[in-house]
Amino acid sequence: MRRFFLPPESMSSDPPVIEGQDARHIGTVLRLVPGDTLVVFDGTGNEYKAQILSLGDHQVRIRLLERLVPHTESPVEITLAQGYLKDKKMDELVRRLTELGVTRWVPFIARRCVAQPDARRSSARYERWHKISLEAVKQCRRSKPLVIESPLSFEQALQQAQSSDLRLFFWETGGEDLAALIKTPAKPMRIFLMVGPEGGFDAVEHDAAEIHGFRTVHLGPRILRAETAALAVSVLAQYLFGDLGQNVLDNP
Ligand code: SAH
Repeated sequence: MRRFFLPPESMSSDPPVIEGQDARHIGTVLRLVPGDTLVVFDGTGNEYKAQILSLGDHQVRIRLLERLVPHTESPVEITLAQGYLKDKKMDELVRRLTELGVTRWVPFIARRCVAQPDARRSSARYERWHKISLEAVKQCRRSKPLVIESPLSFEQALQQAQSSDLRLFFWETGGEDLAALIKTPAKPMRIFLMVGPEGGFDAVEHDAAEIHGFRTVHLGPRILRAETAALAVSVLAQYLFGDLGQNVLDNP
């Protein structure tokens, strides 16, 4: 069944109405008719099977039939903090991190950032990222888009990690390997992953992260591009502690 996003306020209106591009898509491309069913979700975890009551060019009125319980959100909260990259790379990361079930995305400015966010365009950039994440949510059947923070300083990003129970700082220069990570005594529920910008982290940043309770981890002998590293560490966290395949820590 096709899935459509409805903002929470539209979901609670009576009857709920799908508008704009989605409404046109339902009528002219999918050629659905009154009585047909579809799925609507509001991005906060609410998801319903719904039936079309009536269709216009710009509006589709629906009736909510039954609440669905989505099983597509990870049991662990994963935050990926990313040293700021060029806009195109950031756009692509938003999509892929959403697909991988990452909960929160925290762009931050590191000392060796090549790209810097343009403050004047911050709301436009946020809108674009949110839209990309919603598109990915529709496609991958998640019920919530990424929570996206506005760009922080490196120190602010470290502060944001304080409520997490596993903090990892990825550094090609040294640190623990993954084998050590698997021996983590308690299963973490809130994981904070920190990946550097194209230029990497410097030693001062590394020291600051360790002071803030981060474990330094390396990902083997090859230097990955920042965006490759971001995807790799999200996959690894989801595999080791989340819902990607068999949970290896539950089945030693
Ligand atoms: N300073 C490097 C490249 C940085 S790669 C250089 O230009 O030589 C960008 C980010 O990806 C790093 O800051 C780190 O967080 C992550 N990364 C890439 N390869 C890694 C590896 N082998 N181990 C751990 N982290 C890695």
